Amino acid sequence: MKFSILSRGDEKSNKIRTQIKDYLVEFKLDYDEVEPDLVISVGGDGTLLEAFHTYVERLDKTAFIGVHTGHLGFYADWMPEELEKLIIEIARNPYRVVEYPLLEVTITPNSGAEEDRYLALNECTIKTSEGSVVLDIEIKGDHFETFRGDGLCVSTPSGSTAYNKALGGAILHPSLEAIQVTEMASINNRVFRTIGSPLILPSHHTCLFKPLNDRSFLFTIDHITRTYKDVKSIQCRVAEEKVRFARFRPFPFWKRVHDSFVSDEHSK
Ligand code: NAP
Repeated sequence: MKFSILSRGDEKSNKIRTQIKDYLVEFKLDYDEVEPDLVISVGGDGTLLEAFHTYVERLDKTAFIGVHTGHLGFYADWMPEELEKLIIEIARNPYRVVEYPLLEVTITPNSGAEEDRYLALNECTIKTSEGSVVLDIEIKGDHFETFRGDGLCVSTPSGSTAYNKALGGAILHPSLEAIQVTEMASINNRVFRTIGSPLILPSHHTCLFKPLNDRSFLFTIDHITRTYKDVKSIQCRVAEEKVRFARFRPFPFWKRVHDSFVSDEHSK
């Protein structure tokens, strides 16, 4: 099996990265940063997001696993003190793969130039630094509402505990093939009206955003930021691709939610 390791870059994570690499090479596993079967992220969720985007072109051939070195570590289930156990598991035992849904975002320019397609593990946000975001929202081809406000967030189920949660969105179990649209400070008065609630769309419902003013838009795809001028439409839907996580032991989603947001006393 071929593996690669991504570190957050701090001293502790780099040290763990070297330890894992040396041990796994001793166990006759191949270190390969180009075509790894298993990608080990050492750090926090930000490191796992980076690992995901580094290997986004080969998601069907790559599984991810996270080692947690401080911070929240929602995606990272192994602690530094369990390193020996993890290394033996990787070297000796086949892993189970769990697959989670992703968000597909397609940005089409007005100019007729080629569209850009992105995959997000957490979410995509649409904002502007030039006043309000004003856009028509279509769901499954039908006009739903005109949004005016700070912006919108479209998240995956596993990203529902990230930015989406801070915007009052629901937490979705990642076995649900869905995306969630949440508002950022919509303007609601006699003239402008939006639904005001988060919307959860199934995989066969596509959401289309059509800008009504010629603002330059600021898009975030997980930790990546892109600026676009002259946008015709932004299409969001559940992607055909999935992210694959390697599991050597159970890592129940609701336990992770509990330990990250309620109390981690039971995990000690
Ligand atoms: P960051 O601002 O350095 O960290 C964002 C925080 O979100 C970190 O504590 C991170 O955990 C945590 N996080 C990431 N994915 C998560 C998930 N799926 N569930 C629960 N928590 C999660 O930014 P970053 O490290 O580059 O990560 C980018 C992410 O930040 C975006 O995808 C977005 O979801 C999130 N974000 C959140 C807000 C907000 O809540 N108001 C605003 C902007 C961006 P670790 O500490 O373990 O890395």
